[in-house]
Amino acid sequence: MQTMKSIIALLFPVFLVTGGFLSCVGQTQSANQKQATASREPKTVDSPGGRRVVKPNAEWAKILTADQYAVMREQGTERAGTSPLNRNKEKGIYYCAACHNPLFSSAAKFESGTGWPSFYEPIAKNAVQEESDRSYGMVRTEVLCSVCDSHLGHVFDDGPKPTGLRYCMNGVALTFEKK
Ligand SMILES: [Zn+2]
Repeated sequence: MQTMKSIIALLFPVFLVTGGFLSCVGQTQSANQKQATASREPKTVDSPGGRRVVKPNAEWAKILTADQYAVMREQGTERAGTSPLNRNKEKGIYYCAACHNPLFSSAAKFESGTGWPSFYEPIAKNAVQEESDRSYGMVRTEVLCSVCDSHLGHVFDDGPKPTGLRYCMNGVALTFEKK
């Protein structure tokens, strides 16, 4: 057990450097666009109140801005440090920009230093859904809105207490409302 701890202690800084650098990074949106979210297999999703908003991407393209669409429907990643929500310290709720599903409370927001808004837990367990993402030669856990299946970001296990999780979100996929 002690050896294990030493190994973790040794590897942790390395993980921080590489993980911190790669976290959220999905290269530019146009570099390697993945299959659009709407063309995935239909699935049963646990969402708050059973609410579901399912639209073809052509509809989403009319509703979302180009930047939102690239992130939310094409799994793009906004450039680090570009979202004004990154530095937002006001109390309130962060919603899905596409369907207004409440996703995160400001109480769970923390400064991760990555340049993306980061939270240690969603506002409700079923506010988001997770999927394995093997793009760009990495194994990551993708975070999607449980109501409209929009891509939001990724979750990593190097977050702070109490969960140890870091929900690394694209600010463009979120809207904020002050409490
Ligand atoms: Zn949504």
